[in-house]
Amino acid sequence: MNSISKDKELNNRIYIIPIIIVTCTIILIGFLIFNGIKNYYYDRMKEESIRLAKNYSLSLAKAAEAEDIINDLLEAKINTALMIASQGEYNNERFKDLAESLDVDEIDYYNAEGVLIISNIDAFFEREDGLWIIEDVHEIRDFLNSGAESFIGGIREDSISGNNFKYGYLRVGTDGCLIQVGVKAERIDNFLGSFGIQYLLDEIFAEGIALRISFIDNDNLIIGSSNKNYLKKSINDKQVLEVINTDKEHGRVIQLNNEEVYEVFVPVTIGNEKMGTLSIVQSFDETKSLITQVSIFGLLALIIIYLSLIYIIITSYQKNKSLMKLAYFDSLTGLPNLQYMKLFLKKEIANQKDKALLLINCSNFKIVNMIFGLDFGDEIIKGLSDKIKELSSENIFPFRFSGDRFGLYIQNYYTRENIVTITEEINEIFKQPFKVKNAEQYLDVKVGIMEFTNNYKNVDYLLRDVLIALNDIKSNEKLNYAFFNEDMDNRIKRQEKIERKIRNVLSNNDNKNLYLEYQPLVDLRTNKIVGFEALARLKSETLGDISPVEFIDIAEKKQLIVPLGNLILEIACNFINNIRNRGFKDIRIAVNVSGIQLLRDDFLYDIKRIMNKSNIDESLLELEITESVLLDNFDLINRKLKRLRDYRIKIALDDFGTGYSSFSRLRDLNIDILKIDRYFVNSLSKVGSKKLMTGSIIQMAHKLDLIVVAEGVEDEEQKRYLIENKCDIMQGFLFSKPLSEADTYKILAENKKS
Ligand code: C2E
Ligand code: MG
Ligand code: MG
Repeated sequence: MNSISKDKELNNRIYIIPIIIVTCTIILIGFLIFNGIKNYYYDRMKEESIRLAKNYSLSLAKAAEAEDIINDLLEAKINTALMIASQGEYNNERFKDLAESLDVDEIDYYNAEGVLIISNIDAFFEREDGLWIIEDVHEIRDFLNSGAESFIGGIREDSISGNNFKYGYLRVGTDGCLIQVGVKAERIDNFLGSFGIQYLLDEIFAEGIALRISFIDNDNLIIGSSNKNYLKKSINDKQVLEVINTDKEHGRVIQLNNEEVYEVFVPVTIGNEKMGTLSIVQSFDETKSLITQVSIFGLLALIIIYLSLIYIIITSYQKNKSLMKLAYFDSLTGLPNLQYMKLFLKKEIANQKDKALLLINCSNFKIVNMIFGLDFGDEIIKGLSDKIKELSSENIFPFRFSGDRFGLYIQNYYTRENIVTITEEINEIFKQPFKVKNAEQYLDVKVGIMEFTNNYKNVDYLLRDVLIALNDIKSNEKLNYAFFNEDMDNRIKRQEKIERKIRNVLSNNDNKNLYLEYQPLVDLRTNKIVGFEALARLKSETLGDISPVEFIDIAEKKQLIVPLGNLILEIACNFINNIRNRGFKDIRIAVNVSGIQLLRDDFLYDIKRIMNKSNIDESLLELEITESVLLDNFDLINRKLKRLRDYRIKIALDDFGTGYSSFSRLRDLNIDILKIDRYFVNSLSKVGSKKLMTGSIIQMAHKLDLIVVAEGVEDEEQKRYLIENKCDIMQGFLFSKPLSEADTYKILAENKKS
């Protein structure tokens, strides 16, 4: 069973594969997102560093420019001070005032010998060694000797104070005297320093963006750094050197104090000239926490998407699984259903060796449902299916075929006996009553068996044949199982042909292939024809003449008996008119009616309609009914018979003696005529108890005021016996076989004469 149920379970692969794909995709997307976020922030760090470096380049360029301007300004300032100082009185007080107002540090007056005569700085005159005279090698001496009118020097150390100064000189008067104006270099340095490499670096560093900023000159020497320990150090790292020399921005992750940091190298240019490279080291902390935050956010979103997708896949899996169950498994018994069985057999018919299909049918299950109700029926089916499941093995697979039918597929059996053994096991199940709560119910079983001996191409044919085998088992047969065989098939095919013929006849009103023959009913006292029994005849091009016993039975099974019976009745009524028109009055026509017709609610209506149509004398119509129909519906039928007799229609009980009617019942039955079955009449020519019984039947029937007809009278002996025993009417080959309509006119004419 396991192998079979797995077959129609959901293929898990269809769901596992998408789950794997979704998982991998999500992991990949997660990885890409994380990397993307990381790269995005790295790029931002790099951009930030480049921005800093560019600013730095700009600042450097400006600083260089500024230095020139400041120098110019300073020189202008010194020149101005020289000019102003040279005009007016030369004394210490004035020089002091001028120094203050012109914001210079020193104004001196030297004579032509180089002796300091006047100065704003008192300390120069408080020397113990007297007045200060310019040394032989000195900037001022150079100026004195140069003969130039004025000169502004670079920054140098002041000979007296030792401080660095920038000095300007102007020759005053004609005797070679000069005025010197000095500005403290410290102030200039301070001022110009604010435009220097280190200063700018410190300023950028102060922004707090970087952990370390260094400036590497074109000789690969660190000439500025926020960390003084790096100053004046040469770059030796080959990788860094390579990067520096590419003149392109480059970022890398390095370790600094056991911490991962990001370092970028950005070339710094002024105009088109490369000044050096700026190295900016930034901490990852902030970026890392940003990366972590954004990544967590992204991952959370991904997890939500992932879980949603998995949820969708799982719910669709579960939904499909239950749909699959609904589609292929019977909800009551849990067994695979017919749909499944068909698909399963479709595969199995590929190789048809040693395989068989059993169809188990509970013949009385409908009654169980009707008596105990559907719930009880369901419980019984469940109990039965549990027992059938116990039969399953590696080679035996049970299915629920339909309502009270189960399929059992058997493979790899050796002989038919194996199958018979299984059938006996099935019979064993049914020998015990099925229990539901306190109630018990025995079930009858039939098993149709189909061995895969034919080359079946279609499961439908296979199922059809197993159904044929099942239907072929008659309730009264000894064996309750049957193997499908060709005869069954031929029977079914013949039945199908006959059914088609009947349908054809009905739809075309074909009275060539469906017609009536009439067998005379003869008064035993006068030997005169008093009536005819109408006997239906069906002709088929392929099957020839078909017995009414066969085609009436098929018409009953295929629900064709009502229209067929009505048609027969119409033909019979026409016949009544025809013989009447030919001058034969009082000739009664007996028409056989099926029990199914009688049971129909509209039977009386149909009879009236047909009689009205043909406008016959109702008393000339006789209806023959059989005992079997009375068995289960005595009262209902009897009421209908009364109504028919009220219309003046005669009723005959056909084939008396073969069924179950007793004389006690006959008394209550609304009939006019009793037809003794051929079987009894036949026995009249033989010696035995049946012969005695026939006479008694006639007598008893007469006591009930019934007209007695003997069927199947074939010889004179029988006739004699019947006359002796006062039988009223005879029917049989002795007088005439059933005749065509034309022949009835002849026989009537002859009979009239005789
Ligand atoms: P049934 O109503 O008992 O009809 C009498 C049958 O006995 C007829 O067979 C008839 O041909 C046959 N028979 C008559 N005399 C003799 C005889 O001396 N010896 C022998 N061996 N047979 C004789 P048939 O025509 O084959 O009809 C068989 C049965 O088919 C009828 O039995 C009747 O039950 C049924 N049947 C015939 N026609 C109709 C019909 O129109 N409607 C219905 N519902 N059943 C019909
Ligand atoms: Mg009859
Ligand atoms: Mg009969």
